Amino acid sequence: MRATLDFLHERYAWFNATMFGSELPQVRLRLSRARTYLGQLRYKRTRPLFGRTKYTDITISVSTLYDLPEAEVEDTLIHEMIHLQILLGPQRDNSTHGILFRAKMREINEQFGRHITVSHHATEQERQQDRRKRNHLLCVCTLASGKQGIILARPSNISALWQRLPSLPDMANCCWYLSTDSYLNRYPRPLTMKIYSIPSDILTRIIAEARPLVRQNGHIFPVSKKIPR
Ligand SMILES: [Zn+2]
Repeated sequence: MRATLDFLHERYAWFNATMFGSELPQVRLRLSRARTYLGQLRYKRTRPLFGRTKYTDITISVSTLYDLPEAEVEDTLIHEMIHLQILLGPQRDNSTHGILFRAKMREINEQFGRHITVSHHATEQERQQDRRKRNHLLCVCTLASGKQGIILARPSNISALWQRLPSLPDMANCCWYLSTDSYLNRYPRPLTMKIYSIPSDILTRIIAEARPLVRQNGHIFPVSKKIPR
């Protein structure tokens, strides 16, 4: 399913009553088409000279880009509601998904049989902090129009994509790479084929540092950039 505003308002009220003791205020709920997050909590912060920091324009956005199971859309909303509770509460967490966040998440998961996680909910700040080195199977696609984009494969579907992509009607060129660039950590790997657009300067950097992938006898493996003489 994809969230609707009615759905979000109805579930927000229900989760607030059952999981948060009705202590959360009514905040703005909105739908987005974001591809880089499923849910996001945004707000403005004002620091008065005296007294407590004030948070205004609090908004929870839920992306409707992906068709997800209803429970996952609900878990996304609950995830952001935990952020909201901590934001307005007396204690600061030790990181974005720190001790306070994980304690509340575990409590809700156990009590209500939910499957809330700390993934898929990255804010821009979190994504910039995500510097883990991971292997990315990356296809740089050039379309007939000259536009470039990337497709990220899973190990389980790279063979199928490798064969299928060049035969797509708009596809002019496909090049496969193995990259460990942490910029790519922000993209989800959907099971359906999905072309992401990416800033061209970043793409140039990623390709310069990536290792080309080759396919031989049905096996796909990376080759070293330096061709031995
Ligand atoms: Zn989060």
